[in-house]
Amino acid sequence: MIDFTLTENDQAALARTREAALIARTYARYYDENEHEMPPEVLPEAEEFIKNAGPLPQSGPEDTSRPVMLALQSIGTYWGDYSIRLRREGGGLGNAALSAAGTPEQQAKWGGLCLSMAITEPGCGSDPSRVSTTAVLDEETGEWVINGEKIFVTTGIRADAVVLWATLDKSAGRAGIKSFLVEKGTPGFDVSHKEKKLGIRADDTAAYVFSDCRIPRSNLLGGDESIPKKNSGGFRGVMKTFNMTRPMTAAMGLGLAEAALDFTREQLESAGIEIDYKAGPGTQTAAAEKFIRLEAIYDASKWTTLQCCWLAGEGKPNNMESSVCKAHAGGSVRAITQGCIEILGAMGISREHLLEKWARDSRITDIYEGTGEIQRLIIARGLLEYTRQDLK
Ligand SMILES: Cc1cc2nc3c(=O)[nH]c(=O)nc-3n(C[C@H](O)[C@H](O)[C@H](O)COP(=O)(O)OP(=O)(O)OC[C@H]3O[C@@H](n4cnc5c(N)ncnc54)[C@H](O)[C@@H]3O)c2cc1C
Repeated sequence: MIDFTLTENDQAALARTREAALIARTYARYYDENEHEMPPEVLPEAEEFIKNAGPLPQSGPEDTSRPVMLALQSIGTYWGDYSIRLRREGGGLGNAALSAAGTPEQQAKWGGLCLSMAITEPGCGSDPSRVSTTAVLDEETGEWVINGEKIFVTTGIRADAVVLWATLDKSAGRAGIKSFLVEKGTPGFDVSHKEKKLGIRADDTAAYVFSDCRIPRSNLLGGDESIPKKNSGGFRGVMKTFNMTRPMTAAMGLGLAEAALDFTREQLESAGIEIDYKAGPGTQTAAAEKFIRLEAIYDASKWTTLQCCWLAGEGKPNNMESSVCKAHAGGSVRAITQGCIEILGAMGISREHLLEKWARDSRITDIYEGTGEIQRLIIARGLLEYTRQDLK
């Protein structure tokens, strides 16, 4: 039976997470307004906090509800400030891809690095099978030669290396796509620029160019033996990482939505507007009713996300659920931040408060890790038992 019971240790970890998150929040406005600067890896006050209070408690390794705890910790940390927290993340998306598709030797060699993940190109976004970056094996030197361009790479500046999708043979479609690890500093690998964005400005989103970039043969994720196989190092191998990264993306957005709700509740209370959860419809202020509706959207998204994580913790399939929670959260966080602005009026868009920034930051939840439309396609295919060709 589904069970979200938290241990005392879990609860202590979550409480500490919130304390640390509040420290991050004090930097939120500064790095929103100074996008060109990047926050340090560990913010000075956070360092002080960790020194005085010790590291954040973790739930035990034997805890089978670990994905649920990870989601709750994400909600707690991103509640402080989404953008700052995103910037302070230890590893990147590429680390999840390495875990899913790398050999044990590759995981041991590169697991300690911060790895970005580069699939998207100027002509390839929602449909990753259109990757046109090429990898050609130079039989004489035994090196892969990479050519192509990647855009919107999260943690792209500070990453030590990238897990990159490239095609060995365009005519082979998805089967021709493999993932490769390319370390920063490799000749022919250039970080061409840092993107300027509507929101999540503290995060370093970058564009990469690969020009005759030579990497060792052993940098093919999954090793040489993955080449004849369709299911490793490439599409399936890396796509399955989305089953865990999508609920985490949902949880991150929910942290932001919860912060917006908390701020709005405080403002309503200080204006003397009571929120009565037992009153029926039409019996209290429109602001209070609207607020309760926003909280209901939040709860639906949160429980959908935790259910998906619980399935992962139980080792059960969660492919459809990961799309459901991602699609739901993408819409929820937008509805909640916009709804909070509607309730608070001018205060909601004032730069004196963080709500307007959170509304801008929220937009990304429905874009990266697959847009809402793409999640709905995956859900529809799953429910109707349609193939990719039947429904595209
Ligand atoms: C801040 C940020 C960080 C990112 N980080 C990364 C990263 O680390 N690594 C990486 O590889 N990528 C990253 N991305 C890229 C992101 O994954 C893509 O932007 C996303 O997949 C959408 O691709 P696209 O922008 O090319 O849009 P397109 O694919 O061109 O889509 C445009 C619109 O059409 C819709 N659409 C497309 N196909 C269909 C369809 N079949 N049916 C219905 N609607 C459809 C989409 O939903 C979207 O609304 C990042 C993007 C941003 C903005």
